[in-house]
Amino acid sequence: MDSFICKQCGQLVTPDEAGSRHRNHCPQCLHSLHVDERPGDRASVCESIMEPISVWVRKGGEWAIVHRCKRCGHLSSNRIAADDNPVKLMSIAVKPLAEPPFPLEGLQADAPGSQAREGGEA
Ligand SMILES: [Zn+2]
Ligand SMILES: [Zn+2]
Repeated sequence: MDSFICKQCGQLVTPDEAGSRHRNHCPQCLHSLHVDERPGDRASVCESIMEPISVWVRKGGEWAIVHRCKRCGHLSSNRIAADDNPVKLMSIAVKPLAEPPFPLEGLQADAPGSQAREGGEA
């Protein structure tokens, strides 16, 4: 795979540092390019910037990034690489928690069983 310049932040992305053959996004801003219809096939003619919109946890605890194409809305999932910016990854991961679409007060209702008491009281 060739090196490329990130269209989003201008970072030179070289595949050798990724620790993985799956370098397809910028380690700095985590943006990708819409060049694949299926991972690795280079079949897309869109070539627009793909935005990292979410992370999810694969079987075994490995993280993957969900990318969405800014132009056509294509979604794809990509494994994270060894040199991906951890701060950026975390900020994507906590985003839904930081901006909940409902008021948090409602979540504090007592869940059944959450207040199990010790039976030792005299
Ligand atoms: Zn970038
Ligand atoms: Zn696209």
